[in-house]
Amino acid sequence: MKKIIFLLLVFSSMHVISQQNVKGIITDKHGTPILIETNISIKGTDKKTLTDYKAEYSITANKSDVLVFAHPGYQSQEIKVGDKNVINVVLERETIQRNGPHKVVFIIVDGISTDMYYKANTPYLDAISKDGAFTEAYVGGKRGTYSETPTISAVGYNSLLTGTWVNKHNVYWNSILNPNYNYPTVFRLLKDSFPNKKTAIYSTWLDNRTKLVGEGLEATGNIKVDYHFDGLELNEELYPHDDQKKYLKRIDAEVARTAATHIYEEGPDLSWVYLEHTDDMGHLYGDSKQLYEAISYEDALIGLIWDATKLREEKTGENWLVIITTDHGRRPIDGKHHGYQSYRERSTWIALSKPIENTYFKNNKVSIVDIFPTITDYMGIPIPQHVAYELDGVSLTNTVDAFNLEATCYNGKYLNAKWLTESKNNEQAKIFISYSNNKKEGGIDNYKQIGEIDVQKRAFNAQINPPKKCKYAKLVLETKNHTINTWIKIKP
Ligand SMILES: [Zn+2]
Repeated sequence: MKKIIFLLLVFSSMHVISQQNVKGIITDKHGTPILIETNISIKGTDKKTLTDYKAEYSITANKSDVLVFAHPGYQSQEIKVGDKNVINVVLERETIQRNGPHKVVFIIVDGISTDMYYKANTPYLDAISKDGAFTEAYVGGKRGTYSETPTISAVGYNSLLTGTWVNKHNVYWNSILNPNYNYPTVFRLLKDSFPNKKTAIYSTWLDNRTKLVGEGLEATGNIKVDYHFDGLELNEELYPHDDQKKYLKRIDAEVARTAATHIYEEGPDLSWVYLEHTDDMGHLYGDSKQLYEAISYEDALIGLIWDATKLREEKTGENWLVIITTDHGRRPIDGKHHGYQSYRERSTWIALSKPIENTYFKNNKVSIVDIFPTITDYMGIPIPQHVAYELDGVSLTNTVDAFNLEATCYNGKYLNAKWLTESKNNEQAKIFISYSNNKKEGGIDNYKQIGEIDVQKRAFNAQINPPKKCKYAKLVLETKNHTINTWIKIKP
């Protein structure tokens, strides 16, 4: 009996000796923890564990065991335990050629200037930016010109939705009195070409669907948004309004959760998430702990939606582009309000979930109006000429031959136009002019070609002959890839 006990002891202590605890952290190639659970298993056994919320794991294994690290969207790795007690793993993204459709969700998180974004703790936005791309950006049109645009919420959203500044879309204030629907939203453009593609709006502000997108209005062709989750702010029974605006913080969470679930389950082709809490904390407290906490709070909600798109991609083979931006910055002195043209109020940023190779994007300050053509490009939505000729932005994903077109007119007849280019190509550009602005009333403008020039020349001069009462003319530069345009003041 003693002998048996002795043998048992030896056997069990041998067993203990040969086992060791192995721990580590799972990151991507940039060193960012891969936050949703990674599966760690011992090859050839049922033994497994998951990483925790810090992307860390711990497992007991034998020296001869092989650990398998698996995470959806990443290449699995096998590592023999040997003498190691710490095994940190860098997982490489799986480069799958997905053949599924291209889909877009854009998220507007309200009122975070560039400097606030940099200062705030935003692990999810950082991870999205590393995986994809990030850039500083601006809102507010061209300062001091015909396109100068108030740095106000609904005004900014509508610049994104229509790809134009306020002189065209005509939403000057949050009351959204008289939007000019002759400049169609990206939702309308999608539905015009692909009536069966699905749209969705998840929003802490009802007007975004009913007034800006203009659901069910004659002027928008009675556009229908296929799925919506909004208007909770009007339900005071479920969301009693409090001075600290906590009810809107709760609504943002509901909105993001619903967006994530709906995107994962239904995968609408084009959708818009709007989150408000950061703007409320800005107005109430300005540069403050509350505001920075709010940015981190929204960041986590954005992470939720981003994860949903990745899981959806795994499940379906679809290609998802997530675009996150903000609608304006904040007042320089205290970070409270906004609406004017200071650098801080105009300063914004854009994060995209896919890498961007475009040199215009890399070397220039892009703007909120560039998002519209980026979406149409990514999704392959055709842009009718009368819409393209009015777009104030250029695509961040396609070739940009020229940008920043400006023109002046001397003595009512000498036209001087200039533009910038990042391209090395000798792309030919045609120059068109219109002396009417019928588009504003829903009509068609008559553009006349006044020249053709290599974009590398970066300038174009011509003598023009505007009609007597013409105050502004519209100039378009067109290459085979895209168009850019500007207004020219004829009468000083
Ligand atoms: Zn705002």
